[in-house]
Amino acid sequence: MAFTLPALPYGKNDLAPHITANTLEFHHGKHHQAYVTNLNKLLEGHALAGQTLEEVIKKSTGDAKHAGIFNNAAQVWNHTFYWHSMKPGGGGAPAGAIAKKIDADLGGYNAFVEAFKNAGATQFGSGWAWLVLNNGKLEITKTGNADTPIAHGIKPLLTVDVWEHAYYLDYQNRRPDYLDTFIKHLINWDFANANLG
Ligand code: MN
Repeated sequence: MAFTLPALPYGKNDLAPHITANTLEFHHGKHHQAYVTNLNKLLEGHALAGQTLEEVIKKSTGDAKHAGIFNNAAQVWNHTFYWHSMKPGGGGAPAGAIAKKIDADLGGYNAFVEAFKNAGATQFGSGWAWLVLNNGKLEITKTGNADTPIAHGIKPLLTVDVWEHAYYLDYQNRRPDYLDTFIKHLINWDFANANLG
């Protein structure tokens, strides 16, 4: 069974002006699609074919001869998770269990904002910033290129893509402005709360 590109959980114009339809058309329609297409090609006749995406990621991580499979599989997973980490009219301070946990584990919403922005801004080159649950505690982390917390047994709650293709059309080189907008206007705290479970 080949993997397919999941539909965006909102319309292409729904995150504008913060992320435009132009960005989503390339990022979802071209970049995310390319990872799906490449992964399916790499898995043709391969021992890892027929497994779930999560299994492919966990079984290919850290294995140099499976680097192509890992990179494409992890990027397929990370992008789907990223689309759900945003919603139209999102952002701002959270409510519910995640709000209490941010207060308890991270020192409050303002401390979250600073740490999350810093993780995204200081990821050298391409990668991702994450809010994760590690041994029952919230942490802010970052990963390079395609790497993903699920390859390391860590539970992601929220992510922001800091590859240039995520923001260059709308923000050019201003990654901190993109991160600021993501935090103020896009974060889907319902998704983080659901992942916290
Ligand atoms: Mn991306």
